[in-house]
Amino acid sequence: MSARLIDGTALARTIRAEVARRAAALTARGRQPGLAVILVGEDPASQVYVRNKVKACGEAGLRSVLERYDAALPEAELLARIDALNADASIHGILVQMPLPKHIDPHKVIEAISTRKDVDGYSALSAGELLTGLPGFRPCTPYGCMKLIESTGVDLRGKHAVVIGRSNTVGKPMALLLLQANATVTICHSATPDLGVHTRQADVVVAAVGRRNTLTAEMVKPGAIVIDVGMNRNDAGKLCGDVDFDGVSQVASAITPVPGGVGPMTIAMLLVNTLQSAERESA
Ligand code: NAP
Repeated sequence: MSARLIDGTALARTIRAEVARRAAALTARGRQPGLAVILVGEDPASQVYVRNKVKACGEAGLRSVLERYDAALPEAELLARIDALNADASIHGILVQMPLPKHIDPHKVIEAISTRKDVDGYSALSAGELLTGLPGFRPCTPYGCMKLIESTGVDLRGKHAVVIGRSNTVGKPMALLLLQANATVTICHSATPDLGVHTRQADVVVAAVGRRNTLTAEMVKPGAIVIDVGMNRNDAGKLCGDVDFDGVSQVASAITPVPGGVGPMTIAMLLVNTLQSAERESA
């Protein structure tokens, strides 16, 4: 079998075009959606992520406000800045780029963001909304993975989904979204003794580990859908995922590439969350 490529770049483009259409309608009513992005310090990867988010906002007609601070910024000043943005009616989403410098408690910062503006969906309240099935912001990466899975046309009801990884930002919310879609869900992690025992039973595998070649061809059931969240570098320094793409694409029915799979969807879903926040505030 040779898997169909799930094209995250194309799907993200379609979603961003729809965001742009709806953002223009809000802007015409004087309610342009606004996202505040806060970057503390000089982490090179964070600078790239932030730049891409700001660029994507501009292209979709969202206003973005980028606030850059020195790595020595006191925690109290960051919290005060978040308070001010919480009260700013022109801002519908607030994103603080992680990781933060060591002296700043990321939990305190995330919880300081108003739940109404938590477009990353990382706060305990947003996580609780997801857990209990209430409406709320879904974390952008797993939200994007769900859209990629939906794009294959699969009905997840009764399907067995295996998530590898249990981080608060990817693995756990991913498992909850799959559960909400009526899949039977298994979560694997670093203490799972034999990953293959689980993944070989899966109709859908989502790999969110951060280690290349975590999922290889002999670990995949023929016809499975494989979503690769991982972002790693191979020996040649090229970006690669957690999945042995060449091998697994011979077995799976559909697979996301890295790059061009989950990455573009993460940014697209950030725009969706910000737009929906603005639409709700304008309703
Ligand atoms: P993380 O917080 O480091 O979590 C990694 C998870 O993988 C942990 O739950 C860990 O288990 C598990 N794990 C580690 N080694 C394992 C093994 N040998 N077998 C099974 N599970 C194992 O990372 P993350 O933030 O979830 O991100 C995961 C990957 O996705 C990274 O490569 C990251 O760069 C990428 N990512 C990509 C995007 C995107 O937009 N494309 C967005 C977010 C993240 P324990 O809990 O037991 O330690």
